[in-house]
Amino acid sequence: MNDLFSTLETQIETKKIKLGHTDLEYANASSILTEGKGFMDTYDYTLNPYSGCSFGCNYCYAAFFSYTKEKMDNWGYWVKIKENALNLLMKFRKKPLLNKTIYLSSVTDPYQPIEKELEMTRNILQEFIDYHKVRLVIQTRSPLVTRDIDLFKKFETIQINMTVTTDSEDVRKIFEPLCPSNKIRLKAITEIQQSNINACITITPLLPVIDAHEFSKILLETGVKKFIIQPFHGEKGKFVAGTREEASKIIKELNWDNEKYQQTLTIIQSYIPDIGIGKDGFTAI
Ligand code: SF4
Repeated sequence: MNDLFSTLETQIETKKIKLGHTDLEYANASSILTEGKGFMDTYDYTLNPYSGCSFGCNYCYAAFFSYTKEKMDNWGYWVKIKENALNLLMKFRKKPLLNKTIYLSSVTDPYQPIEKELEMTRNILQEFIDYHKVRLVIQTRSPLVTRDIDLFKKFETIQINMTVTTDSEDVRKIFEPLCPSNKIRLKAITEIQQSNINACITITPLLPVIDAHEFSKILLETGVKKFIIQPFHGEKGKFVAGTREEASKIIKELNWDNEKYQQTLTIIQSYIPDIGIGKDGFTAI
């Protein structure tokens, strides 16, 4: 444990603190594994070491699961750290998880910026390696995921999903202003792929793209073989990439609709014929 972490941990334990734009808070969770339901119903469990998300995508469906309206309105600016996450998982040592499929994470990103110091996700991975045999899918937009390549190599069945939604940094900044850039995400998933770990790019949701041909080529240049795509949904509250009001308004202003999605999908499919679509693409590994 380094000094920075000790100081940070002490600060978090005693009061709410800020890391960059994010308010951090510790909380105890009542459980750590949630039965996979709805969009995630092919998984045995979803696991979220954090709630809230520093990346704050303005279309994020997870915002609907905020426990107050204020939290929903401030989506992207708060993260709760489930400080007992590892302890809760340790209770399963008595009855190890064998061949269970786990999706990490469904309503947050497991590689929050604070993960760099706290290593919540890393400790969970180590717990899985030491005491269980799970089939794991990790979903992220963070380059921090490459830190754990050494642990990924110890899983028999694992897949790392990196979300990349557009070829345009301008579009990315409109919808995902607090996220790492496309270039950084593509570099990270290339590194995962080159480390011989199953890698997947999730284009979920597909945002407006400048050149679908070039976008497809850039995606393929990563060496990744598996891709999943889904459209930008407007339905509020559904367990899909449900779109919040602001994002819905912007997408209309950009003249992006189902027809544009279908046209772009057709071009992408000409490069990636076996791209997984929507829920079917997300089927547990
Ligand atoms: S990274 Fe994922 S969980 Fe976080 S705001 Fe974006 S879509 Fe939501």
